[in-house]
Amino acid sequence: MANIKQISANNGDQALLGDTAILTRLDKAVAWARKFSIFPYPFATACCAMEYMVLSTTPYDIDRFGALLPRFTPRQADLLMVIGTVTVRQGPILRRVYDQMAEPKWVMAFGACASTGGFYDNYSTLPGIDRIIPVDVYVPGCPPRPEGVLDGLMALQRKIQGQKQKLINRLDETTTPS
Ligand code: SF4
Repeated sequence: MANIKQISANNGDQALLGDTAILTRLDKAVAWARKFSIFPYPFATACCAMEYMVLSTTPYDIDRFGALLPRFTPRQADLLMVIGTVTVRQGPILRRVYDQMAEPKWVMAFGACASTGGFYDNYSTLPGIDRIIPVDVYVPGCPPRPEGVLDGLMALQRKIQGQKQKLINRLDETTTPS
């Protein structure tokens, strides 16, 4: 039986490794792990929340994307899902929740109301949460279909994979929860 040195000499290191090893960069590997271990914080305010609950049922199974388990404290979450209508009075609360999340963090505007205010055109409704916090992905619909939410989630995963990942957050760069 040929030993490792002989195989390496005959076929090169690539042939020796074959499909037993994957070569990548550390930041790409971290991005891959991050995009499949998303912990959402559901900031649910209105009817779109019904569609959020559907995502964990068998036909849609959001767990396939590594994003099933909601965290009910922003300190343990990295995806803020804003689900439903947000009033002007709720704006500072939403901003505070966002600020309490550690980096890296992402935001999904779930449905027409969170994205643009929806059909509410009045003094009390926020015309889109991007007036208060940065948004990474918008999911259209009133309410959005679960397939649309999963589509948005996959778009976010592609974005996370493409981001230059910081491997270490310096303490003075992270947000201090208030
Ligand atoms: S987008 Fe439609 S379903 Fe969602 S919160 Fe607004 S009114 Fe309700």
